Amino acid sequence: MKLSLVVPCYNEQDNVELFYEECVKAFAGKGFDYEFVFVNDGSKDETLSRLKKLYNEKTESNITVVSFSRNFGKESAIYAGLKNCVGDYVSLIDADLQQRPEVVLEMLDILETEPEYDCVAAYQDKRKESSIMTGFKTGFYKVINMLSEVELHADASDFRTFKRNVAEAILQMSEYHRFSKGIFSWIGFNTKFIPYEVQERNAGETKWGFRKLVKYALSGISAFSTKPLSIATYIGGLATFASIVYLIVVIIQRIFFNQAFSGYATIVTLILFFGGLQLFCIGIIGSYLAKTYIQSKGRPVYIAKEILSRR
Ligand code: UDP
Ligand code: MG
Repeated sequence: MKLSLVVPCYNEQDNVELFYEECVKAFAGKGFDYEFVFVNDGSKDETLSRLKKLYNEKTESNITVVSFSRNFGKESAIYAGLKNCVGDYVSLIDADLQQRPEVVLEMLDILETEPEYDCVAAYQDKRKESSIMTGFKTGFYKVINMLSEVELHADASDFRTFKRNVAEAILQMSEYHRFSKGIFSWIGFNTKFIPYEVQERNAGETKWGFRKLVKYALSGISAFSTKPLSIATYIGGLATFASIVYLIVVIIQRIFFNQAFSGYATIVTLILFFGGLQLFCIGIIGSYLAKTYIQSKGRPVYIAKEILSRR
């Protein structure tokens, strides 16, 4: 098998069939064999039955359908897709046709003609979203690149095609809290970034609201950096230092200038300030602890209820 298309699907009932048709059209006559690995991520609509229909009707195509017992998230769906694919090259592509299968051909071509590359990642040429969103995303990448040891390409999506050894490397990263942009960077390999034009979603709506994106971004930071923990230490150290300086000032003023400090407001403000600071730092520590706790349980990244495959 030359190429595996790993397709995470969550409530994509009106997209999966068209997606299939578009891929078949794009790859027709190219002379290589390919497979579809659809991962139904606990969809609440008709996605699974449409996928089953494809599986039963399009027997000429290589189709695998992995269906989760509930919604585990796109990251888990990608992991399951990688586990269940066999291609020499693997493409991660969304089901909503925002990413054109023709771009996959372009990626494949690069991997074959430029053997120094192991992975080709597409980045959005022009972002089709509000400037506020773009601003937040740019800010996020600045922060995470400052904090973490891995370097993230600002616009790169997880629309990418890579060689089998890259897929195996990702599978070795079986951590529970998955952040694929970080994982791609962490495993290394040579990646070429190519621009692509993101299309309008064919049907349905995006699952990434602003709140979900913020949560994802924060979990991405803690997944690939422990710097927030040391920042907490620095803030604590700085506050202690400042309070010692302040104490010395107070003592000097009392002894040498006979000035007593009164100031109810100052005390209340300081108590609130340091109380808040402490809770903030404990919160940071807590978020790492929570991740360690969940990871220590060794829970699986996903649970498949059903796998349809002719292999
Ligand atoms: N997706 C998924 N599980 C989720 C959310 C999304 O498998 O919990 C899939 C979704 O079906 C789509 C891809 O991930 O194929 C990208 O999602 P979406 O189009 O909502 O994101 P956007 O393109 O807006 O960033
Ligand atoms: Mg989309």
